Amino acid sequence: MTEEGQYIALDLLLCRECGGRCCQGSPGVWVDPERFFALFFAGEQLTLEQLRERLPGLGMVLWEKSGVPIPAPRSLSTGCAFLGENGCRFPVAERPCQCLALIPDKATLDLETGCACRLPAEFSRETGQQRWQDYWREVDR
Ligand code: SF4
Ligand code: SF4
Repeated sequence: MTEEGQYIALDLLLCRECGGRCCQGSPGVWVDPERFFALFFAGEQLTLEQLRERLPGLGMVLWEKSGVPIPAPRSLSTGCAFLGENGCRFPVAERPCQCLALIPDKATLDLETGCACRLPAEFSRETGQQRWQDYWREVDR
């Protein structure tokens, strides 16, 4: 657990051997808006327009295709923009909730592509969309 109560499922040895297959696809996101704003804006509650202006400076973008705006690490053709030669450039405590919660599975090492690692339901895309939708409703009041 991090100080914000984020669940961590890292297996450093396995993930180092794997080289970040998960990061080479779509980046994970911060499922918990409160955790996101605590980490990057000292707990300040931003409106959508304020967040939109400040995200590029953090190397992040807004995912909006689902209809619910969610901040995420920028993507490159090689995967997440924060994936460096030595792994993730975020300190562990700041990494997206989904990245920390993904349960490493060594079966991934036997796959040519894709990832066998499992994301618990409470960190799913649907859960993230619901929590951000609730957050934006609260801010717009
Ligand atoms: S794909 Fe799985 S094993 Fe590989 S780095 Fe990601 S969590 Fe670790
Ligand atoms: S933020 Fe870090 S752990 Fe998450 S996908 Fe990007 S490089 Fe991987």
